[in-house]
Amino acid sequence: MKIIVLGAGLMGATTAYELAARGHEVDVFEKREGAGLETSYANGGQLSACEVAPWAGTEIPGEVLRWMGDPKAPFRMRIKADPDQWLWLMRFLLRCRPGARESRIVPNLTLALHGRARMDAIAAGLEARGEGFDFDERQQGILRIYREQAYLDQALHELSPMNDAGLTQLRLTAEECLAIEPALAPAFQRGEIQGGIHCPGDRSGDAHKYAKNIAAAAEKSGARFHYGATAERLVTRGRTVQGVVIDGAFHEADGVVLAAGVGSAALSKAAGVRIPVYPVKGYSVTIPAPDTLAPEVSVSDETRKVVVSRLGDRLRSAGQAEVGGYDLTLEMPRARSVLNALCDLYPQVNPELGEKDANVEFWCGLRPMTPDGSPIIDRVPRYDNLVLNTGHGTLGWTLCAGSASLAADLVEERQPAVKADDFSLSRFHKI
Ligand SMILES: Cc1cc2nc3c(=O)[nH]c(=O)nc-3n(C[C@H](O)[C@H](O)[C@H](O)COP(=O)(O)OP(=O)(O)OC[C@H]3O[C@@H](n4cnc5c(N)ncnc54)[C@H](O)[C@@H]3O)c2cc1C
Repeated sequence: MKIIVLGAGLMGATTAYELAARGHEVDVFEKREGAGLETSYANGGQLSACEVAPWAGTEIPGEVLRWMGDPKAPFRMRIKADPDQWLWLMRFLLRCRPGARESRIVPNLTLALHGRARMDAIAAGLEARGEGFDFDERQQGILRIYREQAYLDQALHELSPMNDAGLTQLRLTAEECLAIEPALAPAFQRGEIQGGIHCPGDRSGDAHKYAKNIAAAAEKSGARFHYGATAERLVTRGRTVQGVVIDGAFHEADGVVLAAGVGSAALSKAAGVRIPVYPVKGYSVTIPAPDTLAPEVSVSDETRKVVVSRLGDRLRSAGQAEVGGYDLTLEMPRARSVLNALCDLYPQVNPELGEKDANVEFWCGLRPMTPDGSPIIDRVPRYDNLVLNTGHGTLGWTLCAGSASLAADLVEERQPAVKADDFSLSRFHKI
């Protein structure tokens, strides 16, 4: 089949790989000048099956009120004159009811574990062809640390359904956290670690390198990537998407996969399909790893609300959440707060680092979020040949390989390896 994939972030590039490897003729159209340059560029670097619990939860409305007006808060809301934002917020609030978060944990985890297996299979297949690729991967697990017992208890409460679904996670004392990551010594000595949870099977690395490499592997398998190419609209007739208008020119296809991150909502809306995907802005900072006591293991600091990952000789910290529309302005105080959190957790990091330092890269990106914290991977009911692969929010890298495999199964109308209903668009009819 001749398939058009829209977007070459983690989702589009990995989907293109899956489809090309299955023998389809694939054209990817990407408005940027390369793969993985938007939200997939400088994320937290975690392949974190352990973090699949959605953000929406009973504690969130209270925390949002507490953080209001605090410029250093990890969350910010900017109300826009945009009904899509209001509807999204209303749905998000409804997902803060008891039990809602728990209901998405197992579906997300199943997709993450399927993705982990697909990533390994892809890597093994490429290596067998002499084409392996490097993305600064570390297989030392992910360590979540907690300062407050209440948050640790909440996380421990979520362990058993995850363990039952096949994810090994270990409850740790503060001393055991330190044994896994000796760079936490200063935080340990200050008594800031109440305990932690280690997920040994989780991994970390550079998502942008992964996106570039998987795009290159897809090209080697026959996919064509067209960069600097903006999709303007889907061309539909009856129940069929006939193709896409790219920069004024019509491109015909047997099927279209929409993997345009936060750009997906506008493209689908113009074709009469409303999807509840809205941007939630986040920040990261990438610095040289310190010479002494450099962190090795990817850590989620559940108090400072940042993640820190080691990428080769660099260290990346990511955090912040702002529901404020599509504006991608990098606001230095927000970016700086992510660096401050990193320096606070790891005082061995040079506190002099700042925006004037050439080795420091501040970045922000828009997470394509659904209100319930699960992606939308679905063959759209209105059309016979339009597949959505978007809305991965905080988990896009963790879920990309599983999502690409599911999207390719849907394109081929094959029985998927995971339960497709869990990621359907129609689930939002109920909330
Ligand atoms: C601060 C931060 C930290 C994060 N940390 C993690 C983490 O540790 N682990 C994890 O798993 N996830 C993390 N994420 C989430 C993850 O990065 C995203 O979910 C993921 O990158 C989304 O990938 P995507 O391909 O859907 O979107 P994108 O990477 O944005 O790709 C979509 C592509 O579509 C293109 N596009 C859009 N519109 C059009 C159009 N009209 N025509 C042509 N092209 C178009 C865009 O240019 C873009 O390249 C983080 C996100 C942020 C912001």
